[in-house]
Amino acid sequence: MPGPDVSGPPPRLVLAVGERAGAAAAERCAARDRVRVVVSADDAATVLDAELPRLTTGWRIVGVGTTADAAAVRAAALARGALGEEVTVWPLDDSWRVRVHCGVCHHQGESRRDALAACPACGTALAVSDQESRVHGAVLGVPRA
Ligand SMILES: [Zn+2]
Repeated sequence: MPGPDVSGPPPRLVLAVGERAGAAAAERCAARDRVRVVVSADDAATVLDAELPRLTTGWRIVGVGTTADAAAVRAAALARGALGEEVTVWPLDDSWRVRVHCGVCHHQGESRRDALAACPACGTALAVSDQESRVHGAVLGVPRA
């Protein structure tokens, strides 16, 4: 009986958010990778819940999309028990757009990386920091004095 195929790079579950990310993923993926395209990063959780129990040791997870979407996929995978070393992201080239985690009320919204933002939930004026949380899939929004 043949054992598992251990030649070449490990197979990947590639979660692409949006059509553009799906096309980028298709260009980079190998035949044995499993590509799933979702409309919104919020849909990643559903796909991961269905796919993760089917993966065996050695699989890797890749989030593809805008910087914010790819980070959200990574956070969803980590929340479901994936190890940091098992998850990578392929952000598309619009890193000016980030998911911001409000340091006051923990709501998450999107903003330009170089911008000041008001939290849509609590209204606090936030400065978008460079401090990125892989667990939250967002950068920290620090209240402005
Ligand atoms: Zn807030």
